[in-house]
Amino acid sequence: MTAPKLVLHPQACDAAPTYDAIVLALRDLGTIGTRFALDGNTHFQTGPDFLDGIGFLGCAPSIQLDPPAQHAEPAARAGRFCHIQVQAPTERPRLRCKSGQGPRCRRCRSDIPPDLIQAPDADIACPDCGHPASLAGLNWRQSGGYARVFLDIWGIHAGEAVPSDRLLDRLGHLARSDRSSGDGPWQFFYIED
Ligand SMILES: [Zn+2]
Repeated sequence: MTAPKLVLHPQACDAAPTYDAIVLALRDLGTIGTRFALDGNTHFQTGPDFLDGIGFLGCAPSIQLDPPAQHAEPAARAGRFCHIQVQAPTERPRLRCKSGQGPRCRRCRSDIPPDLIQAPDADIACPDCGHPASLAGLNWRQSGGYARVFLDIWGIHAGEAVPSDRLLDRLGHLARSDRSSGDGPWQFFYIED
């Protein structure tokens, strides 16, 4: 089963703030609340200040912030209410993207064919203009990302909400696990996975 998600991640694909640092920041901001388990993973209900971190666009009439009284587990799995999952840093960056909507060249805007995306370590040369880019440096058009850390906000459809500057700013100042300086800016995309 898939669920709609708004996914935040560091722009730099080697950036890896620790799981604990991310959770602490989200707690501090009031973005996350009670912890619960779903399919063996830790998730969090929305916190008291969730709406300071995530801004809904338009009227967004159907946004459910709390789990239903009954059948909460299938509802969580389908993303029928908002909850948050921090994915711990992986050793290497991972690619997550919407199938059928590949990235574009940042220079000439040509679509990058899927077979060029198979070797994530090498720079990818745009087939049209030859402009080289890393996987993380392509224009994913908010439909994918390449990172070691992902922060999934379940229950948000594409374009329905965006992270606030306050949240992005806080995440951007998290220290790396292996350095003392901040990890740099975060960005986001929408996916159903
Ligand atoms: Zn190009």
